[in-house]
Amino acid sequence: MLKVKACGLSDVGLTRLHNEDYFEIDPEHRLYVVADGMGGHNHGEVAAQVAVRAIRDYIEKSAADGAPLGPDGALGHGARRLKTALKAAHHKVLRAIEQDDSLSGMGTTVVGFLFERESGAVAHVGDSRAYRLRGGMLEQLTQDHTWVHEQVVAGFLSKEQARSHPLKNVVTRALGGESEILIDVRELEMVPGDLFLLCSDGLTTMLSDREIRDALVAGKSLHETCRALVADANARGGTDNVTVVLLAFEADDPDETIA
Ligand code: CA
Repeated sequence: MLKVKACGLSDVGLTRLHNEDYFEIDPEHRLYVVADGMGGHNHGEVAAQVAVRAIRDYIEKSAADGAPLGPDGALGHGARRLKTALKAAHHKVLRAIEQDDSLSGMGTTVVGFLFERESGAVAHVGDSRAYRLRGGMLEQLTQDHTWVHEQVVAGFLSKEQARSHPLKNVVTRALGGESEILIDVRELEMVPGDLFLLCSDGLTTMLSDREIRDALVAGKSLHETCRALVADANARGGTDNVTVVLLAFEADDPDETIA
């Protein structure tokens, strides 16, 4: 049996006036989400919040009454549930735009983690990322839906060049964007000692994977680690909102709770 401890932190950064990131930690449903909204006149905030609430609502509803899941038979229950939740969030953002012209053009990235029946699922759209630290090694679990990532895959840019490229913020997929949405989802097995990080690009454009890893292995508490990651991003300029959610998996020893 595994148990999970989580904490999250979101910061406006040093140059933006508004924080258009949003995150959710829902221990009851073991759902963890980071969203990074976009759109003028603070509408990114609206998009991120609408999406995160829609995801949480769907996960809650599907826990209670077995709401219909998407038809993706190759995926397990938790992964299908999370993917369907992101799809529902996409349609919710589109509906909000339909109902209010002033919200036109808003959208949001999202990365979500759902822990169900001892296994995990990560789903994402855009450039918010999930990482796993295991045995001191940091692995990026998501592939950015960005123009620069496509250039990295094609061999035209290095990962480091992509991180500082002027077009680094151009996402190729977002909730609220095209009417049909493609959602990447993967299933994961966790072991005690695993540390997962969900974050917005305000972290990953400021810090390299190596620097993120160093902060995660520094032996601090989860809260201190969240604060350190945000402080490090701000120390590098803090030119974007930065949001981190950390999940630590531990063995849930029944004897421990009796004692
Ligand atoms: Ca951002």
